[in-house]
Amino acid sequence: MRAAVIEKHGGPNEVKIVELDLPRIRPNEVLIKVKVFALNRLDIWTRQGMPTLNLSFPHIGSSEFVGIIEKVGDEVVDFNLGERVVINAGIACRRCLQCRSGDHTLCAKFKMIGEHIWGGAAEYAKVPWTNLLKIPDSVKLIDVAATSLTALTVYRMLKRANFKPGMLVLVVGAGGGIGTMAVQMTYVLGGRVIAITSSKEKELKVKELGAELVINYKELPNWGREVWNYSKNEGVDVVLDSTGEIVWEASLRSLRKGGRLVTCGATSGGLGKTNIHLVFWKQLSIIGSTMASDNEFREAMALIFSGKIHPVIDSTFQFNEIKEAHERQEDPNHIGKILIQIED
Ligand SMILES: [Zn+2]
Repeated sequence: MRAAVIEKHGGPNEVKIVELDLPRIRPNEVLIKVKVFALNRLDIWTRQGMPTLNLSFPHIGSSEFVGIIEKVGDEVVDFNLGERVVINAGIACRRCLQCRSGDHTLCAKFKMIGEHIWGGAAEYAKVPWTNLLKIPDSVKLIDVAATSLTALTVYRMLKRANFKPGMLVLVVGAGGGIGTMAVQMTYVLGGRVIAITSSKEKELKVKELGAELVINYKELPNWGREVWNYSKNEGVDVVLDSTGEIVWEASLRSLRKGGRLVTCGATSGGLGKTNIHLVFWKQLSIIGSTMASDNEFREAMALIFSGKIHPVIDSTFQFNEIKEAHERQEDPNHIGKILIQIED
């Protein structure tokens, strides 16, 4: 099979298409013929290398893909050849107490397809059947590829935030993959959205997705004050953040009493300043969130399959343009998802 691999850490030039043997599936696994995969910030970090990541080479990235079942292992239940499927990239032991209680994201052995193990940037990928969901015939594969990872991530964040319709939700970094989904999903589920973003194009996009107030933090570095005024000096109920360091302090300050900040990433850095006085006096909660449980995955995908949430696609590349796709993912001006299609 053709696969987009890295043999060592580095820039977009390190991603090369090579011929590899087909992955050999275990009894609990399914072999998927990949049709569309997406890039995420994680693919850039994995390619560049991170202090905490000990990668073995060659490595195949992508934690977000859709395709058609080509082969099933003997222990696979409920999935058949030819079915169209989407994956949840979080892999766990499926035996420990956390896994058996229904939340495999808390498993001590939790790993990511595309980061710790080979992902979907290839003609074929293998995935445990427990991490799959069938895609209804009426739904376009490309729409699912463009939404699955961000939808399941944001869905869990909203659950962790104890979100209810009518709440005022601040989405920081609103122009990114997670951000555009956070704006859209919060709005679709009945929330009121304030979005913080960095360019005119992104402002327009997030407004279109349902944000009632959009602030360009580059034009208005003191954006926290604006949020505070807009909330009638009460603060927002929830902050959804994937940006981290550069927005952390102002995000915490924007929360109402009892407010909750949920973070799923730190693209700008991991060392935000926390005013502890603010945390105890306003009884704030700072909540981490990573990926989604099986139930959350199903519920998030049901929202996608229902057509209520639309994909925000920045650009679609062919497989042999993988280097250009990586370059676009690194470009801060991209809005929404970067997809790669694999033609037969
Ligand atoms: Zn486990």
